[in-house]
Amino acid sequence: MTALAFDDFGTLALPTPDVAEVREAYAALHARLNRASGDEAVAVVADWDTLRKRLESWSSLVHIRFSQDTRNDAYKAAREHCDEIAPKFTDLETTFKKAVLAHPSRPALEARFGRFVFDLWACDATTFDPAIEADLVEESKLGSEYVALLSAAEFTVGGETVNMSGLSKFAESADRNLRYEAAAVRWRWFADNAEALDRIYDRLVHLRTGMARKLGFESYTELGYRRMRRTDYGAADVARFREAVLADVVPLAGALRKAQERTLGVDRLMFWDEPVQDPAGNPKPAGGHDDLVAAATTMFDGMGPDLAAFFRLMVARGLLDLKNRSGKAGGGYCSGIAEAGVPFIFANFNGTMGDVEVFTHECGHAFQYYMSRNNTPSDLCWPTYEAAEIHSMSLEFLTWPSMELFFGADAERFRRTHLTKAVLFCPYGTAVDHFQHLVYAEPDATPAERNAMWRRVETQYLPTRNYGDLPHAGAGGVWQQQRHIYLSPFYYIDYVLAQTCALQFWAWSQSARAEALAAYESLCAVGGAKPFSGLVTHAGLRSPFAPGCLADAVTRARTVLGA
Ligand code: ZN
Repeated sequence: MTALAFDDFGTLALPTPDVAEVREAYAALHARLNRASGDEAVAVVADWDTLRKRLESWSSLVHIRFSQDTRNDAYKAAREHCDEIAPKFTDLETTFKKAVLAHPSRPALEARFGRFVFDLWACDATTFDPAIEADLVEESKLGSEYVALLSAAEFTVGGETVNMSGLSKFAESADRNLRYEAAAVRWRWFADNAEALDRIYDRLVHLRTGMARKLGFESYTELGYRRMRRTDYGAADVARFREAVLADVVPLAGALRKAQERTLGVDRLMFWDEPVQDPAGNPKPAGGHDDLVAAATTMFDGMGPDLAAFFRLMVARGLLDLKNRSGKAGGGYCSGIAEAGVPFIFANFNGTMGDVEVFTHECGHAFQYYMSRNNTPSDLCWPTYEAAEIHSMSLEFLTWPSMELFFGADAERFRRTHLTKAVLFCPYGTAVDHFQHLVYAEPDATPAERNAMWRRVETQYLPTRNYGDLPHAGAGGVWQQQRHIYLSPFYYIDYVLAQTCALQFWAWSQSARAEALAAYESLCAVGGAKPFSGLVTHAGLRSPFAPGCLADAVTRARTVLGA
């Protein structure tokens, strides 16, 4: 049931919670919980969830508004205030979780809410202590500083002035000189800002390591995994998965890069050639923002009643912000307003094929949330990230038959490019993960040593890469453009694990589309009610950690791509 209703997201405003009032609400909940047993204990946990949803909705909205206009002083101030008080709410929440975990009526609570949410709360109970409150505030501030720095970047290329998102269309141009120019200005900017980027990251690494030690962990890696709420696999499983990527995907990626070099007709594939799979440049969606939304409406209408209703709701309530404009934060994401039970999609359309990829990706997240929005407690609405990315990356493939709506005669070229990129992504994604393991194992490394770590993983996972004379990039600075490394440590292997599942959905949909789509929708409806392995099993897929799974997942792609 939802407590909040609104017609237009653009005008939605939520009251800033008062810390003292929230404290009182928690004191009342504790008093009730202490006396409660059986059904009353269940009712107290449900009321606590209502309070959390209110606080979460406000926090989500504050973060969304800031990303919509990072230069708006009121949004910036609200975001800063939110970052200041968020750890106080986390403290109250964690204390309450501990009380619920230790409650004598736990069997009744588990019977009502399921066992898994208790595993999540047990995980959360180890990742927070009031001793790290100030560190968390500083961590958020450094994250905002990184976002603001990148959002403010401006480039002149091909006679146009663009921001970081706007550079992509030049990076994917059929004109090699323009591609080079886009890469040159981009990496010149990163070189010019290297000192600030190094300072922010160095502080983040020390801060995170300090938090881990205060909480009794040896390094940030253990804490990072717990903050990601990974309850059913650990660093050793991920290390084994990385070995599978090296053995099963890196050689295939090398063959695809060789084929790309031949297709593009270049003597040697350079870093600035990598984004383009075709001498004609990557296919571009026909028309602008409104055409894309209209095409998406037609597409989802044709994919069944739930997907149709979902997308019509997104359009009707203004839950899409897709246009690129100056001052807007980069990237794309899906968030939600828990109290209203609605998702929100943020993107930066720039006229490239990526617009469609990001859009179908974020729609996957949003549709999953829409389907599981009534899960209780609200911890079970969103799954953990590696599972959440199955919903998004699989929808990118499940929408393939509708790509004519976006690309017309270029749809087949889009599908081939998309599949190629999906395979090529795996080594890159794994490199980003491996790099972070190295970084947090040696937190006192210098910025130059961190760049050397990146060079080392690049040599392993991306051995064909050639940066030519690009400043900074060739010296190991490329990781600095990957926002997850700054903002969401260890959130990256998730994409590779999920891609392994998405490729299974892709293969499945090729032979039995209706069955694959039904399994997909059923997976979305479960939301986050199970851990990763449970969701994978529920969907009828094989676990990426199972021996041979990744190799099988890429074999069909290899055949289709003729590599
Ligand atoms: Zn995603």
